Amino acid sequence: MRTSQYLLSTLKETPASAEVISHQLMLRAGLVRHVASGLYTWLPTGLKVLKKVENIVREEMQRAGSNEVLMPMVQPADLWQESGRWDDYGPELLRLNDRHKRDFVLGPTHEEVITKLVANELSSYKQLPLNVFQIQTKFRDEIRPRFGVMRGREFLMKDAYSFHLEQECLEKTYQVMFDAYCRIFDRLGLDYRPVIADTGSIGGDASHEFHVLAESGEDDIAFSDASDFAANIEKAEALAPKGERPEPSQELNQVATPNVKTIEEVANFLAVELTQTVKTLLVQGVTEEGEQVPVVALVVRGDHQLNEIKAEHLPQVASPLTFATDEQIKATANCSAGSIGPKDLACEVIVDRSAAHLADFVCGANEDDAHLTGVNWQRDCGEITIADIRNVVEGDPSPCGQGNIVIKRGIEVGHIFQLGQKYAQAMNCAVLNEGGKNQTLTMGCYGIGVSRIVAAAIEQNHDKYGIKWPKAIAPFEVAIVPMNMAKSARVKETAEALYQTLNDKGIEVLFDDRKERPGVMFADHELMGTPLLLIVGERNLDEQKVEVKNRITGEKSLIAIDEVLSLFN
Ligand code: ATP
Ligand code: MG
Ligand code: MG
Ligand code: MG
Repeated sequence: MRTSQYLLSTLKETPASAEVISHQLMLRAGLVRHVASGLYTWLPTGLKVLKKVENIVREEMQRAGSNEVLMPMVQPADLWQESGRWDDYGPELLRLNDRHKRDFVLGPTHEEVITKLVANELSSYKQLPLNVFQIQTKFRDEIRPRFGVMRGREFLMKDAYSFHLEQECLEKTYQVMFDAYCRIFDRLGLDYRPVIADTGSIGGDASHEFHVLAESGEDDIAFSDASDFAANIEKAEALAPKGERPEPSQELNQVATPNVKTIEEVANFLAVELTQTVKTLLVQGVTEEGEQVPVVALVVRGDHQLNEIKAEHLPQVASPLTFATDEQIKATANCSAGSIGPKDLACEVIVDRSAAHLADFVCGANEDDAHLTGVNWQRDCGEITIADIRNVVEGDPSPCGQGNIVIKRGIEVGHIFQLGQKYAQAMNCAVLNEGGKNQTLTMGCYGIGVSRIVAAAIEQNHDKYGIKWPKAIAPFEVAIVPMNMAKSARVKETAEALYQTLNDKGIEVLFDDRKERPGVMFADHELMGTPLLLIVGERNLDEQKVEVKNRITGEKSLIAIDEVLSLFN
């Protein structure tokens, strides 16, 4: 590819909207562009990376015996009614009507469609076990889309489903999938950990999440400092010995309800109740003009999910204040100042549990376009200990019995789950067994966040100049950067010849044929993270050499032109 024909949309400035480094770099290096909240266009460079991740996932799934299929993104409501999830799924499920007013959903996941397919296609135990997967766009109406493609509303997922007659067979396939996931994340060059995950309401059955370790991760992972134990925080809490910590609401209940009136009082109250160590927590709503404004609603929530700190954990705050629903928050943020009260303010206090301090204050609604503009929190808060609202904190004895808990942040990039018969039972997915009797199948499901992996890889692989792609997913293997090509025929000829040679060998090469200063070219390639640069300059051509620069190590060396191909073995 020549840069003159390529949509190379690099940005010098860091877009203010991007909070985490991967989002900043994905915008700056021209990988994606924002379309609407949680919706992105993948530009050529981003798409190349996405396709590489996708292909590694596909190859390893096929190697593990899974069949690729492609299911529709739009799914009829009756399948969801049959499984019971039409009522259970909640607001992440986007529902829509067609012209005949029939109900549909945009698929956030595909258990219903696949279970129905298998119920129709399979009739005998001889066709089992069966493992199918797809790589497809999912839609989840996330309450808080953020960090770019890390938590989008539309995103690319690999989802696989396996079908079995017996639990024992499911367990075998589960292990095969576990191993395939390890191979996938190894090949991607990521620092990851499989952790045991909570199976929630289904209960009893096994589940693992695969986490890429990164400070920006939204999930907490509990490790033991003396064994291989690793669990997501929900599972660690479920396993933790009961009764050692007071129930959070009990402790808080003993505090008399103060007559909270102003934001400062609310803030002080929160601080006092959440910790004894905090001296000041100054929270003020201020308008652009610097005017203080009162609060009408306070939503206390963990990072992206409402389950982290609930209203009932803070009953005394709840009584003088209103705990707003998302709809109320939205309504408040959307209404003009004054319709609830003069310059009333909806706010969200985001509590980062692992960092054990109040991490962030955000005003307005959760939606990008529905924020109150020009209103912000000023804050000055010290460390807040929130051990009393969590069951597992650092230093606790590990539930595995060995060592103590260490907590790290992770990005969930994969999730495997022994589902059991939940869907097969509800949707009548059965085959004739060896004895000629109808037997309900047992299922497993296995997800990988393909688009999230692109962001997670950047979180782990970057420096101040830009992205440092792991080799397996770099958009280009090499870039040819000619120095002053316009002035030197020799440089131009050599660069063109190199380009031809590399292309002929099927090496993915970006030929920088722009009329730009070398500094601009280098900055772009470092930002984009191309692993190797071949720098063609007058001086080295006297010796028939070009310079090689390695993006990962920063090393520079000279190489004879006719030996360049040896770099790509
Ligand atoms: P999370 O806890 O991050 O919301 P999840 O547990 O809801 O994810 P799963 O249902 O397990 O997600 O889906 C399988 C995989 O899809 C996840 O492990 C994750 O990598 C990816 N994924 C889920 N939601 C999103 C999203 N909003 N944007 C990008 N990837 C996502
Ligand atoms: Mg989710
Ligand atoms: Mg999750
Ligand atoms: Mg999950």
